[in-house]
Formats: sequence, C-alpha cells, structure tokens
Amino acid sequence: MLTMERHLQCQLSKFAPMKTLDDLLLLGDPRLYQVCDPVLPGELPLVKDWVADMHNVMQEIRECYHFGRAIAAPQLGIMKRVIYMNIDRPVVFINPVLSSLSDEKFELWDDCMSFPNLLVKVMRHKRITIDYLDENWQPQQWHMEDALSELLQHEYDHLEGILCTMRAVDEKAFKWRN
Ligand SMILES: [Zn+2]
Repeated sequence: MLTMERHLQCQLSKFAPMKTLDDLLLLGDPRLYQVCDPVLPGELPLVKDWVADMHNVMQEIRECYHFGRAIAAPQLGIMKRVIYMNIDRPVVFINPVLSSLSDEKFELWDDCMSFPNLLVKVMRHKRITIDYLDENWQPQQWHMEDALSELLQHEYDHLEGILCTMRAVDEKAFKWRN
C-alpha cells in the first residue's frame, strides 16, 4: 500500500513543473533563431499549460525588471506559434498572421525579456491587422496601431526566429537600460 507521501509524489509527477525565470531563453540561444511550428487543433489542451507558464514567467520579469507586456512561446523553449499578451487583460494569440502593414513607420527603443537590460532602436509599422485563433480556437481579427502594433510585430518576429537585435536601424542602435 502506498503511503500518503508516495501517493502525493505520484500525483505530482504527472504534471510538469511550472516554468520560471530560469527557463527563459536568453540572447544567443539557438532556439530563439528557429521558425516555430503552427499549433495543431489537437494541441489546444496544451495551450492552456503553455500560457500558464508564459504568464508566470512574465510576472517574474515584471517584478525583477519592471517591464513586460507580452511574451512568445519560443522564449520558453516552446517552439509553437503562440503569443501571450497581458496589458489590461490576458489575450492569447494562436497561429497569428499579420497583414495590412502600413507604409507609415515609426522608430522606437525596443526591449525584450530575452535580453532585459538591452534596448534596441528599430522601425515598426504604425498599423497592422492581426488574424489569429483565440484560446477557444475561434478566429479573431484585430486592427492595431502604435504601441500595440509595434508590440505584436516584436512578438510575431519571435515566432519567425527574428530578434529585434536583427532589426536594429544602424550600428549605434543599442543602449544599456539604466
Ligand atoms: Zn522579445
């Protein structure tokens, strides 16, 4: 007969431990340069776990570095096309597609949780449209501009294996965060 302790261990071992800041991939990790795979319909139940991990790590980043509006699954080594954003409410973007990128662009100092002390000057489209599936696998469309537009361009790039360091406007477009 199992003791209560053994029983509890067996129960716990069924679940992967929650990802933490230690699981965040940092600049130079080859996985950050890989193109991610689409989420398949049968994988929808896993998305909830991935999002819980993304939420957890983003909270830790906010506590340590005082920034962080969104995170992409590959930053945690989950090589799937999922973005999690939490500004005033949590939003899950599954298999997002960007379109209607405006000709008008703007310049900004971008940051990234995978190199939290480095700022990179980049150009982003002022307006985009994003089509995606939500956490219930329902198609959604969102027209974004300015801060949301640049944020989702940054996160979408992660799904394509592109970091903002690769979009620096020139060789002096790097700054240490004070
Ligand atoms: Zn990033």
